[in-house]
Amino acid sequence: MHGLCTAFALRRAGLRRLAVLEAHGPGHDRGSSHGLTRITRSSYHEPRFVRLAIEAHRAWSALESALGGALRVPTPGLFFGPRGGRFDAYLAATLGSGAAVEQIAVAQARHRFPLLRLADDDRVLIDHTAAMVLAAETMSRLRSWLQANGVELRWHSAATQLRDGGRTMQVETTGGSLQARRVVLATGPWLDRLAGAGLPGLLVLRQTIGYFDLDAPAAATRAGTFPVWARIGRTAEEFDYGLPEHGGVGLKLARHRTAGAADDPDAAAPPIDPAPLLALAQQRFAVPVRGLQRAERCLYTMSADQDLRVEPHPRWPRVVTIAACSGHGFKFGPVIGQQAAERSLAIAD
Ligand SMILES: Cc1cc2nc3c(=O)[nH]c(=O)nc-3n(C[C@H](O)[C@H](O)[C@H](O)COP(=O)(O)OP(=O)(O)OC[C@H]3O[C@@H](n4cnc5c(N)ncnc54)[C@H](O)[C@@H]3O)c2cc1C
Repeated sequence: MHGLCTAFALRRAGLRRLAVLEAHGPGHDRGSSHGLTRITRSSYHEPRFVRLAIEAHRAWSALESALGGALRVPTPGLFFGPRGGRFDAYLAATLGSGAAVEQIAVAQARHRFPLLRLADDDRVLIDHTAAMVLAAETMSRLRSWLQANGVELRWHSAATQLRDGGRTMQVETTGGSLQARRVVLATGPWLDRLAGAGLPGLLVLRQTIGYFDLDAPAAATRAGTFPVWARIGRTAEEFDYGLPEHGGVGLKLARHRTAGAADDPDAAAPPIDPAPLLALAQQRFAVPVRGLQRAERCLYTMSADQDLRVEPHPRWPRVVTIAACSGHGFKFGPVIGQQAAERSLAIAD
């Protein structure tokens, strides 16, 4: 997502000789950007993220205009958590930030969203800026736009080494060598591999997501009625989130995994155990769960402070690195792409 958004911004800024290298094929599922949907929202635990989300929503509107129509499906955002927990910071940072959000009572939330379980001591935020982002559709349309606008997309072409050649960077790839005046590394969970020493520590963590069938009318599970939501508990590990049904695969639900031993992005993932996913679904849904329809894996690249970093490489002046990650970077894609393009274009010829 971030590489494609950067190429989009660079091309729109007038850069003509531009290539995107991708180690795998279009739409592959080995990184962080696959899957049908993502959440966008303005509700955040720190004002800087609220401001960035507001900026990102403007950038999404511009992206949608350029790519031929809506990529976000409006639906209420429902964010809640117990008093005295981590959700307090969300209320403090988001209410009064200028974002279109409101606090409502638990009883009101239960009445409006009867498929979700809320506790008596929960506090609740409704985010009117929230939406379900059509993630796979966004990536597909970005690829088509780039191709139609003369950007070279090289699939199954992995960069294997970078060397500083002074006026250019030498990029070794599995398909030969390239010389480039500017390089943007948007390699997500693989960033450390190419960028090498000198970057702040990033932790790659494999995530497991479930898609569920509920004992509920189909209309109640769709965007517009069912929200994008998150329950923010007392610890960082207690962050559960979900999205409306989309594409006939069921309601998406997962728990953020934000700590633990690092995963190797190239290692084969062990088979998915459905039991913890089903237990989570029974905890979070207020109606009977008919079953797990599908489960998938995805990678987070965690920075210590959940930060989104677009930075010059510490040793290579012609290289910009993107570490826009920590499980919430998709919504910021158009802004991250713009920032990376600006930094890259600031590198003198
Ligand atoms: C389960 C899950 C749920 C999420 N939910 C949300 C959400 O609701 N809202 C939200 O805003 N964000 C969400 N995110 C986060 C968001 O999806 C990510 O922040 C974003 O997709 C990261 O994109 P990326 O381009 O940085 O990384 P990636 O998508 O991993 O892209 C990196 C690419 O670089 C390629 N690559 C790596 N090394 C090389 C090399 N040497 N040469 C060539 N190519 C290479 C990889 O093959 C890969 O395609 C979620 C993430 C996950 C995993």
